[in-house]
Amino acid sequence: MTVTIGTARAKPGRIAYGTFDLVDHPTGGGDQLPVVIAQGDPAGPVFWLTAGIHGVEHAGVLVIHQLLTAALARALHGTVVAVPVLNPAGVRTMRREAYYYEGDPNRLFPDGRKPRKPVDPDADPPSALEQAYGRLFDEIKAAGDYMIDLHNAWTNSVSFVFRDRVFYRNDGAPARRKAAKAAAEKLDRRLIEMCAAYGHSVVNEMPPGPYLEQRLHRSTTAAAVNVAHIPAFTAELSTGHMPDPTVVAAAVAGLRNVLRWANMLEGDAEPITGIKVVDPGFPCRRRPTPRVSQACIVHHLVQPGDLVKKGDPVAELRDVWGRPVGEKILLSGYDGWIIGRTHGVAYYPGTEVCGMAIRDDLPSVQPYPQNYWKS
Ligand SMILES: [Zn+2]
Repeated sequence: MTVTIGTARAKPGRIAYGTFDLVDHPTGGGDQLPVVIAQGDPAGPVFWLTAGIHGVEHAGVLVIHQLLTAALARALHGTVVAVPVLNPAGVRTMRREAYYYEGDPNRLFPDGRKPRKPVDPDADPPSALEQAYGRLFDEIKAAGDYMIDLHNAWTNSVSFVFRDRVFYRNDGAPARRKAAKAAAEKLDRRLIEMCAAYGHSVVNEMPPGPYLEQRLHRSTTAAAVNVAHIPAFTAELSTGHMPDPTVVAAAVAGLRNVLRWANMLEGDAEPITGIKVVDPGFPCRRRPTPRVSQACIVHHLVQPGDLVKKGDPVAELRDVWGRPVGEKILLSGYDGWIIGRTHGVAYYPGTEVCGMAIRDDLPSVQPYPQNYWKS
């Protein structure tokens, strides 16, 4: 198919470059998104690959540069549309957020609900950035079969993917409800396959309640899954401010494997080497845990990728003079594994010392809450 995103127009067997207008500056000029389109046989699927929505996460742009070669374009059955930097203001200032929008830019993608009418004059209208992401998402929805968004978690964390929860509408006629549930279950199975094809560790998103409350359903890939209804996941590529070349290479190999799974590239899957791939033997979801109960200095007793059982020691807690305080030894409340240690050693009460993947027995497909479409 003909793929044109902003000023970038796909050419079979080639790489095309262009820009997509993001936000106009009041002082003149504006921010634009870089767009790179690698197209082989135009009859194949369209794969969206994005990065840099959090400005301190710099691995994704390198992955995109290394993946999108002239040889890949010639070999592709289909088209890869890449946006190496979704948040140019954040990336150039090395800040998570864009300075013209105070808030997480990865909570601004559409949630499927229509804007309120009439407009509430006491509420802020959608920011320029949210409106721009809405326009970009229209392009993803119109011409997208798959999507992966590249991020980084913490310094030295395990390279893993966040698998989104899949929701379906449980209102309307029984036949419509049944069809919506069946479509969601099919999409979830595809998503499981796509995560497996990538070959890095897999972590499910939070339970449905906190997932919606924390607006994770408005992330790039959650919108792709639940609004565009395409398989999509978020890849977390370990350290962001100083990307690890081994992780970057493992991500490039994993992405080529996903393209093979999607029948967009020929050949056998490549081995994923040089990184820890953690499989405790049961599905896991993310949780910030364990948390300290009082101000302290933390001596971590675990490393990223370690398997832990409920009751295992995770950290030793001391005061700044070096004397044991609080729990003295902080224990894991769950079976699971350590995704990464949180940064630094000085902690206030209630702060988590690790990002953990804990056993997840919840269904990954569920109906939207009853009032979701009314609010
Ligand atoms: Zn991120």
